[in-house]
Amino acid sequence: MPAKRAYLTIDDSPCEHTEALTDFLAERNIPALLFVRGAFMEQNPKAIEYAIQKGLVIGNHSFAHIPAGDMEPQDWVDDLEKCDHLIDAAYARLDIERPGKYYRFPYIDRGDGVRVERIFADGSQTAIVENNKTSVLQQYLKDQGFTQPFKNMADAYPSQAVDCLFTYTSGDWMLTERHKGNWDYKTVEDLKRRINEDESLQGEGPHVLLMHDQPDIHEEVCALIEHMIAQGFEFLDYA
Ligand SMILES: [Zn+2]
Repeated sequence: MPAKRAYLTIDDSPCEHTEALTDFLAERNIPALLFVRGAFMEQNPKAIEYAIQKGLVIGNHSFAHIPAGDMEPQDWVDDLEKCDHLIDAAYARLDIERPGKYYRFPYIDRGDGVRVERIFADGSQTAIVENNKTSVLQQYLKDQGFTQPFKNMADAYPSQAVDCLFTYTSGDWMLTERHKGNWDYKTVEDLKRRINEDESLQGEGPHVLLMHDQPDIHEEVCALIEHMIAQGFEFLDYA
């Protein structure tokens, strides 16, 4: 059976478990791209520096985590730049070259008000609603040198987009205190079964997986990653 290849992306870092998550990934040689929230990073820059030192890649997930659909373009730019300066500063303090500029919209609302993260199917197949605003945001990202780090994606994946999408969301957030019990998937076993049953995950990929670094679900996320290893997933390097 050929390995199912996957890029692991983890949103909303840092939290109190980021160092433990970093160690968990490093011990298993799993490359990951952490999309940080500037407001959290400002409180806890050491956790992100630790992740960088251990070889994880850092992406920008905004400062305040406001859906872009709710913001004026200039406010969105200011928010993004506030987070980006923190990321630049962390790499500079460590004297490590930033490998690239990667951005993921909060909730994958790309400015059109559609929260793609809550669409459980392949999140890369939801076409952007092209309008003045989404075009301005995409053009800004392009001008600032943002790209996607995912290589050799299937033709259906919009590799020309300048923001980072996903092809499979783990739904791990459904197990946070705030959401637990309110969705069809109520336990980590439910989410493991969902991985096993998902048709899109049966192909070789590469898949782009979305998980979260949040206080309530650290153990659950580690369990899901362990489960994917057992299911024959190979995690791809960002180099
Ligand atoms: Zn997020």
